[in-house]
Amino acid sequence: MAKQGKPAKRRRVPQRTCVVCRSTADKRGLTRLVRTPDEGVWVDPTGKRGGRGAYLCDDPACWNRALAVDVLAKALRTTLTESDRDRIRAAHPSWSGDTREDGSNEGESGGD
Ligand SMILES: [Zn+2]
Repeated sequence: MAKQGKPAKRRRVPQRTCVVCRSTADKRGLTRLVRTPDEGVWVDPTGKRGGRGAYLCDDPACWNRALAVDVLAKALRTTLTESDRDRIRAAHPSWSGDTREDGSNEGESGGD
């Protein structure tokens, strides 16, 4: 009997997991935060910054919790400084009200 094990040609969108609630979504539904070697933790809207990354979903409660219980810090294996927290708070769209793009594209290569 011939095996017709044809792999389904479904296009797989890479799924990411919110570090707080563990819900998964494709990466557009989650915001990436990245730990940089020198500059602390940054929100990475492009998903292209090199460094250890963690994802948060759109739920403000998760962002609150990420900052409150250091789950984010743990996921990134770092400690959040006050400026890290400020940046992260400011970055959440529903909090800051405007989607600020800091156009700092330093052309980093490599990803995770
Ligand atoms: Zn979440």
